[in-house]
Amino acid sequence: MRNISVIGAGYVGLVTAACFADLGSRVSLIEIDPKRIAALERGQIPIYEPGLPEMWQRNQAEGRICVTDNYIKGLLGADFAFIAVGTPSARSGKPDLKYVRSAAKSIAETASGPLIVVIKSTVPVGTTDLVTEIVTNHGRNGHSFSVVSNPEFLREGLAVFDFMNPTRIVVGGSNQNAVDAVARLYGKIDSPLITCDNRTAELSKYASNTFLATRISFMNEMANLCDESGVDVVKVAEIMGLDRRFGRGYLNAGLGWGGSCLPKDVRGLIYMAESRRVPTPLVRAVQRINQHQPKLVIDKLQRLLGSLEGKTVGILGLSFKPGSDDMREARSLLVVSLLEEHGCQVKAYDPMAMDTAAKLMPKVIYCDDTYEVANGSDALILVTEWDEFEKLDMRKMASLMRYPVMVDSRNLYDPEEMAQAGFVYEGIGRGSSVPAKVVDLVG
Ligand code: NAD
Repeated sequence: MRNISVIGAGYVGLVTAACFADLGSRVSLIEIDPKRIAALERGQIPIYEPGLPEMWQRNQAEGRICVTDNYIKGLLGADFAFIAVGTPSARSGKPDLKYVRSAAKSIAETASGPLIVVIKSTVPVGTTDLVTEIVTNHGRNGHSFSVVSNPEFLREGLAVFDFMNPTRIVVGGSNQNAVDAVARLYGKIDSPLITCDNRTAELSKYASNTFLATRISFMNEMANLCDESGVDVVKVAEIMGLDRRFGRGYLNAGLGWGGSCLPKDVRGLIYMAESRRVPTPLVRAVQRINQHQPKLVIDKLQRLLGSLEGKTVGILGLSFKPGSDDMREARSLLVVSLLEEHGCQVKAYDPMAMDTAAKLMPKVIYCDDTYEVANGSDALILVTEWDEFEKLDMRKMASLMRYPVMVDSRNLYDPEEMAQAGFVYEGIGRGSSVPAKVVDLVG
C-alpha cells in the first residue's frame, strides 16, 4: 500500500485524495483552513462535487483517508506529497505561486524521509525547477527530494469521473525513477500515459486550457455572424462538431468562459509568453471576445426592453458552470454588475451556489425556485444551464412575468418551443433578427 500526502483540500486536492484512497493508497490530506478540516473530519465535503461525499465517507470509514493541519503528522511515512494548492493570478496576470512556495517549504522542513514531491497545481513553466530549489534549500535531516510535474485536467462537476477516467495522464520530470513511481500510482487507471520533461508538462496544461477558451471565443465570433445572417449557431456547431479532425467539445456559443481555471490560465499564458517577448495576438483576441460577451447580452436585453432603469431582471443559474457551486470568475458576476449599473433590480435562483453568491452580490434577491424568479420579472436571463432548467414549465414561467422575455445566454432552449410557450426569445447567434421592442409586441 502506498502512502500519499495531498496538500490543499480544494476541488483538486479533495478529489485527488479521495480517488487515490479509493484506488487503495493510504492518504493524508493536509489543509490550513480549520473550517474545512472540521467539516471533513465530520465526513462533510465543503464543496459541491457529485460522487465525492460518498467516496470520501467510504474511505474515511475504512481508515484509508484522514485530514490534518499538521505537516509533520500528514507527511509521516509518506512516499509522495502532491501539491494541489491554488495558483491565483496576480493583477498583472502572473500566476501567484505564494501557496505553492509555502507548501514546498513546509514539506521540506517536516518530511520524515525521502519524498517524491508531485506538483498537481497548474503552474507556469519553470515551477518544478523552482520547487526543487526550495525543497533542496529548506530540507532538513538530509532527506532527498525529487520533484515531478503532474498537471490535472479534471472538470468540476465531473471531477471524480475525470480523475478515474482521464483523457491522459501527464508526468514530467528529470528523475526517471521518480517519474516512473508517479506513473505507477495510476496503474489501475486505463488511460494514455505521457512522460516528458517537467517544462513540457507545465506548458501542456496552459496550452490545453487556452485552446478550450479559443474554441469558445471562436464560436462566439461566429455567433455574431449567425445573428446577422439568419443562421442558427447551434446547428453550425453540430455540423462542425462531426468533423473527426476536431470534434464537438467546447463549440458552444454563449456568455463565454469563466470559472477558476480558464480565465486565470489564459492570463497566465499571456504573461508567460509576453515576459519572454513572445507576442500573443491570437490569445489576446480570444480574451477580448470573452470580455465582451456579458455586454452583448445586456445589449440584446436593451434592444428588447428599451431602458433597463427600474426593470426587474431574473437570473437563472449563478455558478460558473452547471454541476458546480464554484463562483470564481462566474459570468453571473459580470451580468449582475452590468444590470445593477443600468438600474435593474436583480432576482436569482441557482441550485447550489446561492450561499456563496449572496456574499458576492448582496443586492440580489435570492429566490427559492425559478417560478419565484419569473414572478413579476420584466425579463429572464439564463446564465448557467443546469439540467433542471431544461424541464421548466415555460408556459407557467411566461404567465408569471410582466413581460415574457428570455435571453438564453447558453442556447439551452429551442427558439420555436419558447415562442409557442409565449416567450419573446433571444439566444446567442440563433439567427433571430431581434424583433421590435417587446413592449410594443406585448402591449
Ligand atoms: P482551491 O482554491 O479550491 O483549493 C486550494 C486549497 O489549498 C484551499 O483549501 C486552501 O486553503 C489550501 N491551501 C493553500 N495553501 C496551503 C498550504 N500551504 N498548505 C495546505 N493547504 C493549503 O483550488 P483548486 O480549484 O483545487 O485548484 C488547485 C490547483 O489545481 C490550481 O492550480 C488550479 O489551477 C488547478 N486545477 C484546478 C481545477 C479545477 O477545476 N478547480 C482543475 C485542474 C487544475
